[in-house]
This record gives sequence, C-alpha cells and structure tokens, in this order.
Amino acid sequence: MKSDASDHAISVGQALTKGACPICGILKDFQSKSAEQYRLCADAHFCNFHAWALARSGSAEDVAAIFLKMLNGDEQGTENTHECIFCRDIAKEEAYRLRELGGQLQRALFAQWMKSYGSLCLKHAQKLQEYVPLKHRRLVEEVVKRNRAELRDELEAFCEQLKQGIHEGGGLLGRAAEFLVGQRGL
Ligand SMILES: [Zn+2]
Ligand SMILES: [Zn+2]
Repeated sequence: MKSDASDHAISVGQALTKGACPICGILKDFQSKSAEQYRLCADAHFCNFHAWALARSGSAEDVAAIFLKMLNGDEQGTENTHECIFCRDIAKEEAYRLRELGGQLQRALFAQWMKSYGSLCLKHAQKLQEYVPLKHRRLVEEVVKRNRAELRDELEAFCEQLKQGIHEGGGLLGRAAEFLVGQRGL
C-alpha cells in the first residue's frame, strides 16, 4: 500500500485563496486529519504542542496508551532521542507541497495569479526560494512585499476603527499572525 503522506490531502491548486498562505492551509488541514490517524506505534513520541493536540482530539484509550509509552521511555532517559512523529510527517508534507508549488509557479497563468492575488507567509516564502529557479525568486519576493503592504494598510485601518469603538474584522489578526509566524504547531 502506498503510504504517501499527501494521499488524503488537498492540492496546492485547491488551497489557493486570496489572503492566505496555501502551504499553511494545506498543513493545517493535514495536521487536523493526521491527528485522527495516530495510533499506537512502537516509536510514538510527541513534542509538547502535538501531545496536547492529541490529548484534546484523540481517543482516550489510544492517547493514554501513547502517553504510557512516553512515560516508560522517559524512565529510560530516552525522551530526547526520539523526534515527534507528528512534526516529522508535517515536515515531509511541507517539503512535498513546496516542491509542488514551485513546479506550479513555472506555469505563466499560475505565476500571474500569485503575483496579483496570491499570499505566502514569511516562513514559507523563505523556504519556497529553495524550490524555485533563480528567475522566480523575484516573484516570491514581490508576493511577500505586496502581502506585507496590504496587511499593514488593513491593520492601520483596523486600529483606527478600534479607536472609534468598532470591534469588527478580528479575522485580520489571525491573517497577520499567519503571515508573520505561520500556522500554530507547524
Ligand atoms: Zn505558510
Ligand atoms: Zn510535534
């Protein structure tokens, strides 16, 4: 059976929306779908963030068994020798998707859309540079430059609104956070 991490996930094309980093969108989706999939595995170990994510969303029986394994591992002093399998799978998916996005950027129409409307968070824009030829690096920089300017304008307008007691448009803060630091746990 093919066990490609990307089998069940959405494609870069499907994840394209104005104002949101497609890689963050895919990884967020991947993360929530994967949380249901982690079952007992011999080398189960999770970082702080993903242990909490599991504790909240996994089946109590499975999570208790995973934590028991981690407790036993800690006793033998091995807690730092295992990487989080959740983080490892996300990194694999991230590399796969950055390569996919880099490939799509070779298509003129796609590149034009990204240039005019697309968004990338700072982290993924930087990582994407390793997956595109030199001539496309400029395009990635232009997307980020436009995103930064748009967010700054929107945030300034938002601050003005707040001063006047209008508390609408809070989704903007989430978009600014995603642009600056990416999605939580990714
Ligand atoms: Zn991103
Ligand atoms: Zn992790």
